[in-house]
Amino acid sequence: MNNDIEKVLYSEEDIQAAIARLAKQVAADYQDKDPLIVSVLSGAVLFTVDLIKKMDIMAQLDFIDVSTYFGGTATTGHLKLIHDLTTDVKGRNVLITEDIVDSGRTLEYLVQLFKGRGAKSVKTVSLLNKPDGREFDVTVEYYGFKVPNEFLVGYGLDYKGYYRNLPYVGVLKPSVYSEN
Ligand code: 5GP
Ligand code: MG
Ligand code: MG
Repeated sequence: MNNDIEKVLYSEEDIQAAIARLAKQVAADYQDKDPLIVSVLSGAVLFTVDLIKKMDIMAQLDFIDVSTYFGGTATTGHLKLIHDLTTDVKGRNVLITEDIVDSGRTLEYLVQLFKGRGAKSVKTVSLLNKPDGREFDVTVEYYGFKVPNEFLVGYGLDYKGYYRNLPYVGVLKPSVYSEN
């Protein structure tokens, strides 16, 4: 295990089992919907890849980058569209894939953006859901785990750009923060 990790919340096995369950559910619901899967960079990439490999349906994939965190552990309250889609969402069934929904600010922004562009439907699948952090009234139609209100890293989730490549989700040792 990585030396900076205090405890593992969800092991690689836990995560892959949750993804298998989600993939089955989503694939059944989107079988005939020709979904456009929109992965939110960079955190959702690992989850998106593992999820779509388990979905045996016709689907397209695109990426968008919206940032609310700028390197720290607290949200700044600002939101910036850093990289837009290359696909037209008009008339499409959009399925947003997220690593975690916390305040809901990012999701609220994306749902409004895609609906404004004429998407037929917009739904969300997130590996993690942190309902205690919620500030915006958003719906997460599918999620893997309900998580406590702690700052998590791993499996896409970063601290200052690091730890995304861990195959599990965990909590950092407090010393990692105080060193910076
Ligand atoms: P929201 O807009 O819902 O507040 O959160 C959006 C983004 O904040 C997430 O996609 C994720 O990148 C980041 N975030 C929220 N909670 C955590 C967390 O516990 N750990 C890390 N590393 N990022 C988080
Ligand atoms: Mg994210
Ligand atoms: Mg981040």
